[in-house]
Amino acid sequence: EKIDLTSLVADTVSTFQGAYKRQFHFIQEVGTVFVNGSRDQLEQVLYILIENALKYSKEKIEIKLSEQNNLATFSVRDYGQGIPETEQSRIFERFYRVDKARNRDTGGTGLGLAIAKTITDQHHGTLSVKSIPGEGSTFSLALPVD
Ligand code: ATP
Repeated sequence: EKIDLTSLVADTVSTFQGAYKRQFHFIQEVGTVFVNGSRDQLEQVLYILIENALKYSKEKIEIKLSEQNNLATFSVRDYGQGIPETEQSRIFERFYRVDKARNRDTGGTGLGLAIAKTITDQHHGTLSVKSIPGEGSTFSLALPVD
């Protein structure tokens, strides 16, 4: 299925804006960009990344869509607690949660990112994280342009 990623992202951002009293910044650096795959599944990836940003930070969330070298990149940046470097590769494993005691009150099963990674792989994309503890995290989903 050929998907208009730009409108999927714009729709998702407005859904979240309507549902949460939080500050969302949407930075759209590309016009209409198409990718190939399942709209529902890609929507699920966007939800997982945005919900995590909301859950693990209190400040504004920055959502960006850009394109470079035939790769469309969706990213979510938060200014929250961040993730220690030693944990950054493990968070994509099923049921893995950083510091279970600290995150007890935020709840969750530790499946979200594993699901996001599986869907990304099925779409021949990459899912990556950059994070500095105490400063925040940026999760990026890159997908081949159709
Ligand atoms: P759920 O399955 O309900 O999403 P979860 O949030 O614990 O629960 P994942 O989405 O897989 O599961 O995330 C795994 C772990 O990675 C989290 O428990 C948290 O420790 C860490 N993490 C994920 N996103 C962020 C973020 N934006 N900032 C800080 N830590 C994060």
